[in-house]
Amino acid sequence: MEQVRTSKKEAAIETLPSIYSLQLDELKTWLKENNEKAFRADQIFEWLYKQRVTSFEDMSNLSKSLRQLLADNFTITTLKTIIEQTSSDGTIKFLFELHDGYSIETVLMRHEYGNSVCVTTQVGCRIGCTFCASTLGGLKRNLEAGEIVAQVVKVQQALDQTDERVSSVVIMGIGEPFDNFNNMLSFLKIINHDQALNIGARHITVSTSGIVPKIYEFADQNMQINFAVSLHAPNTELRSRLMPINRAYKLPQLMEAIRYYVEKTGRRVSFEYGLFGNVNDQVEHAEELAKLVKGIKCHVNLIPVNYVPERDYVRTPKDQIFLFEKTLKNHGVNVTIRREQGSDIDAACGQLRAKERQEETR
Ligand code: SAH
Repeated sequence: MEQVRTSKKEAAIETLPSIYSLQLDELKTWLKENNEKAFRADQIFEWLYKQRVTSFEDMSNLSKSLRQLLADNFTITTLKTIIEQTSSDGTIKFLFELHDGYSIETVLMRHEYGNSVCVTTQVGCRIGCTFCASTLGGLKRNLEAGEIVAQVVKVQQALDQTDERVSSVVIMGIGEPFDNFNNMLSFLKIINHDQALNIGARHITVSTSGIVPKIYEFADQNMQINFAVSLHAPNTELRSRLMPINRAYKLPQLMEAIRYYVEKTGRRVSFEYGLFGNVNDQVEHAEELAKLVKGIKCHVNLIPVNYVPERDYVRTPKDQIFLFEKTLKNHGVNVTIRREQGSDIDAACGQLRAKERQEETR
């Protein structure tokens, strides 16, 4: 019988923590504990985030022994590209493989104002939204902070070839970011740090399906990042039908948490509202939605449903989308219709993974 064996050393390396998970301060502390100078952390950050090397060996201004020490204790997470699909509008969708064989999606979107990366926070998702492909197969595991950072680094490395820069990040890929809260916060701090990727807080957006206690915690962090909530329904009965999370945290509780966030941070909130044909897309729904968000500093983003083969929602006709928008506008609600990107490349959350990795999502 033939057997492929991983040597002990390789197995050990696979399970080492990602160096991308560390804040600069944490790296300084670690260095001091290991009898190295704290300023080496600045050099390491420079190699990781400005030079974007993929091996400790390349960090040529560090001593050989320090390079070895780093390699014995950390890994520079490298994501293996399984699929890279480019859309006619320039959107690129990546399916990456993690060290344990699971796969995640990352999307690069090109806008007039810059390049935006959509990152995944979990392998799968346990929230169970009835229209979403990411939740098929449930939650496999949380991503480490460094595995989320690595997605942005990897896309930046691709853009380096044309001297372009990742200018904004949206946490809207696979997974519920507030269900992997601490790692998500570490990720935010790392990409925001000026010695790391230096992505401005106002150029970062996080979206949640509505994990109420975490919304309070998030508000108390008082970060200046953009905040979005997947609303999708104007009343609690309908929302429970679309999103089982609403049975645990009901709409009135959710709205209360959002009011708290807006008051605490002074920032506005974005509501994502997917239009699902004949389900939540009628004028009366728009009227009810306008009432629901009245008095809240907010913006409503209408998302025409992305077709998911495993889910049987249908698209709202264009005229009806415009009528929905107009109804909201007439009530003084700030509203836009999300421009579709990458619809020819399965760019909606979890679609590519669901198609390519059926063993993970069944
Ligand atoms: N779990 C987080 C982050 C995902 S963001 C959240 O729920 O907010 C991705 C957005 O796309 C969410 O608003 C999600 O509800 C929405 N979405 C998922 N599947 C969709 C589909 N098939 N059509 C339209 N929007 C969808």
